[in-house]
Amino acid sequence: MPIATTDPATGEVRRTYDEMPSDRVDAAIAAADRGFTALRRTPVAQRARWMAAAADLLDAERDDIARVMTTEMGKTYAAAKAEAAKCATACRYYADNAERFLADEPADAAAVGARRALVRYQPIGPVLAVMPWNFPLWQVIRFAAPALMAGNTGLLKHASNVPQTALWLGELFGRAGFPEGAFGTLLVGSSAVERILTDPRVRAATLTGSEPAGRSIAAIAGRELKKTVLELGGSDPFVVMPSADLDRAAEVATTARCQNNGQSCIAAKRFVVHADVFDAFSERFVDRMAALRVGDPMDERTDVGPLATERGRDEVAAQVRDAVERGARLLCGGEVPDRPGWWYPPTVVTDLTPRMRMWGEEVFGPVAGLYRVSSYDEAVEVANGTSFGLGANAWTRDPEEQERFATDLDAGSVFVNGMTTSFPELPFGGVRNSGYGRELSALGMREFCNVKTVWVGEGGPSAGVGSHAE
Ligand code: NAP
Repeated sequence: MPIATTDPATGEVRRTYDEMPSDRVDAAIAAADRGFTALRRTPVAQRARWMAAAADLLDAERDDIARVMTTEMGKTYAAAKAEAAKCATACRYYADNAERFLADEPADAAAVGARRALVRYQPIGPVLAVMPWNFPLWQVIRFAAPALMAGNTGLLKHASNVPQTALWLGELFGRAGFPEGAFGTLLVGSSAVERILTDPRVRAATLTGSEPAGRSIAAIAGRELKKTVLELGGSDPFVVMPSADLDRAAEVATTARCQNNGQSCIAAKRFVVHADVFDAFSERFVDRMAALRVGDPMDERTDVGPLATERGRDEVAAQVRDAVERGARLLCGGEVPDRPGWWYPPTVVTDLTPRMRMWGEEVFGPVAGLYRVSSYDEAVEVANGTSFGLGANAWTRDPEEQERFATDLDAGSVFVNGMTTSFPELPFGGVRNSGYGRELSALGMREFCNVKTVWVGEGGPSAGVGSHAE
């Protein structure tokens, strides 16, 4: 894939970039290694001041970077501005809480025969971050803010279609005051990842992206014995039970499916609806989906802009075509419009069967599959019936069902009567083919920490243990 900015609304190539030559990649890895030595010795309070400055830059430059995001991958300008604001919030969250998350944790010394015992969280070194285009700021910041606050350094290999966002991110932390090499962008294609991850100075990798990319990076990292966190695809269920508030459920379902032009890993993709309310829900849902305004992503009134790439749009169209050819029914949308750019309309499909691609695959566009079920057990079976396990939504006012769904849905998160989303305060990640490891919260920060056991016996003075820079 060429490294280029192509406006998805028009298909026009705006800017192309040469891939970084290997000597510059090597220099960037060396800088990340040196940066690690500097950053790990910096007090957390100092890192926090720099992280707060990064948040201020995100706020100050919000409109400009949002315009770049919209041009590069087609999300609405309103959504892009909200994304930049959320990034600033996450930076402040880690600036404010890292000291607490990284504090030594005393253990029961007597139980382990020590005079003192504790757990200490220390950074592990330069981490390679391979990131996707769909939330081009947020995916990067939710890795970078905790990683840098922990004292690690980051090397970003961003998706090839968002180079301007990648370059802006590559300078953000240096401009905020972090030492040289703390965070940098490598403008390279995916074929360069193996060499970078094999470099002994690179200690770990995090990938947010597709399942094939996850398998590839995990295989390389496995061979090299390096830690990985994988945030992969999803086909989240959105279960609607008879007691649900149908108006509210249909409203949230529409946003949950179509936010970010339908290209979110945690978008609700399969709508699993109890037969008692199937018609009532689907009527409300289809009306709302069909009423969404598709158009210029810079226009504040637009709900849904273009898909990010021609290949992605063609894939969505092929998945819907496959379902219809095998007997599924279109309730709205389903036609690729005849205009330049990578457009696809909000679409609802029902009467799906396991023979259709849409049954088991992730659909990365504004396309909803509607499934009719006749019991709680069948709802759980259909909801859990893909290889993914990222998020899940359940709509019910029955407290017993709420409890049961929270336990029975096989996913990294379950949202009851609400839309799956991410918060700096809560861990985020998946199970099964949606990946492993967690981002955000204290848990996300500790993924790239050496969780070190410190045991001090009676043999000598313990002075010094209990205070450290990292
Ligand atoms: P993708 O093709 O996997 O690309 C993601 C990143 O991985 C890009 O930087 C890409 O580089 C790189 N890449 C692709 N193949 C690779 C390989 N074999 N080895 C090393 N790097 C490789 O994913 P996408 O289609 O752009 O993004 C959409 C996918 O991401 C969806 O499946 C979505 O659900 C998932 N996603 C997951 C989360 C989550 O938190 N779980 C969040 C957002 C998105 P190039 O651009 O240079 O090819």
